[in-house]
Amino acid sequence: RGASLTDFAEKIGVDAASLVQMLFSLGEMVTATESVNDETLELLGEELNYVVQVVSPEDEDRELLESFDIEFGDDEDTDEADLVARPPVVTVMGHVDHGKTKLLDALRSANVVAGEAGGITQHIGAYQVHTEVDGDDRRITFIDTPGHEAFTAMRARGSQSSDIAVLVVAADDGVMPQTVEALNHAKAAGVPIVVAVNKIDKPEADPTKVRGQLTEYGLVPEEYGGDTMFVDVSAKSELNLDKLLEAIVLTADASLDLRADAGREAQGLVIEAHLDRGRGPVATVLVQRGTLHVGDSIVAGPAHGRVRAMLDEYGNELSEAGPSRPAMVLGLSAVPGAGQNFIVVEDDRMARQIAEKREARERAAMQAKRRVRRTLEDFMASMEKGESQELNLILKGDVSGSVEALEDALAKIDVGDEVSLRVIDRGVGAITETNVDLAAASDAIIIGFNVRPQGKATELADREGVEIRYYTVIYQAIEEIEAALKGMLKPEF
Ligand code: GDP
Repeated sequence: RGASLTDFAEKIGVDAASLVQMLFSLGEMVTATESVNDETLELLGEELNYVVQVVSPEDEDRELLESFDIEFGDDEDTDEADLVARPPVVTVMGHVDHGKTKLLDALRSANVVAGEAGGITQHIGAYQVHTEVDGDDRRITFIDTPGHEAFTAMRARGSQSSDIAVLVVAADDGVMPQTVEALNHAKAAGVPIVVAVNKIDKPEADPTKVRGQLTEYGLVPEEYGGDTMFVDVSAKSELNLDKLLEAIVLTADASLDLRADAGREAQGLVIEAHLDRGRGPVATVLVQRGTLHVGDSIVAGPAHGRVRAMLDEYGNELSEAGPSRPAMVLGLSAVPGAGQNFIVVEDDRMARQIAEKREARERAAMQAKRRVRRTLEDFMASMEKGESQELNLILKGDVSGSVEALEDALAKIDVGDEVSLRVIDRGVGAITETNVDLAAASDAIIIGFNVRPQGKATELADREGVEIRYYTVIYQAIEEIEAALKGMLKPEF
């Protein structure tokens, strides 16, 4: 992946110029040093009677780590005696507006009332809460990025971040498209689901209906003889939050054996990261196994460094972080991506070497990807070829009125049968990295209406080859999308 023709030619023992020529005759213009995508390599392979096996980036990374004698993941030789129980890691998923953010906020603040030191929690991308179940103090880690975007981004990178998914369904709205999408994601990942039937404070709430609907998707409530726990909650009125926490713990106990070796060197995932003006690159990591200490040499994605300091979600300094603990890490050389792994290694030198190799690969892969990701023009081109199409969009606007107006207008476009237009997410506010991640995972185009990108969103979009189109006038947005759908868009230069 991300190899140039020169690399490829060297591997198979031919000269690069002849490959360039061969591709040219197949209608592709590629230079010898340019990175080419998987399809192109496969195409060449066919011509040359080679079986081209495209190695996934995950496999490639595994190989890289192996060359340093490092294994990412559970060590099979771990002694049973070294394993300690660890808290479940939970992701909150569900349809837009069903209350994911509100629920995460409520759970976070409800726990502060329970008397956590420090008091005010900060948003660092994950937090831990305590709850009492059968007299025992139990902890749960929540990934504090609502939606299945983070989940999707991590799965796209082949990493499993969560042990349990809380599926939020608003009782006044019932099962919606993204509810189904979310539950499919969780099922595909083999992650047990706890259903939070939210907004039961509303007079029109119908939690029984939600149970019936989800039964059709194979989530049968315990009270109907199934094995999924449903809890009626109100994130707004902070109703039954303790019951939800209990259901999570019980589900974990019933179906998962959550243990990890706390004694080894730490490994885990980056939950989110950004560049802080004063503190430099800051990354929230989730320790999955081992214990992370201040002073450890660490490599996180293409970033490396020594852990200078660690903070918890209350802003308190931590000297160490064990399994399932989220911690904000300071001291990295660069900002890693959400879902990338982190590993504690022997020394700074090794950390730097691994990071440099990863960075080189990312750069090459990015160039290759750029050429394949869909733009509105590509979409038009494949339409013209008569390939039936689905255009995925993510809408972001300055105010909810504009997003709704845009969506309504889009819904009115008559696109015929061959094309379908799908708005996979919408929201108010700047275009974020999370939006870009979701767009990359679902091959969507982002439409920004009177909004700008935030933080590193543009950089990430460039890297991922995601197209963001900006508009200030609704009809113009509609016109262009309609034109693309009808295959009439003039390419812009
Ligand atoms: P998300 O898109 O799933 O993250 O949904 P939000 O958390 O942003 O919630 C969407 C809207 O529903 C907001 O206006 C919330 O205030 C509201 N909301 C969330 N939970 C509840 C609830 O339990 N009861 C009521 N009445 N409203 C809620």
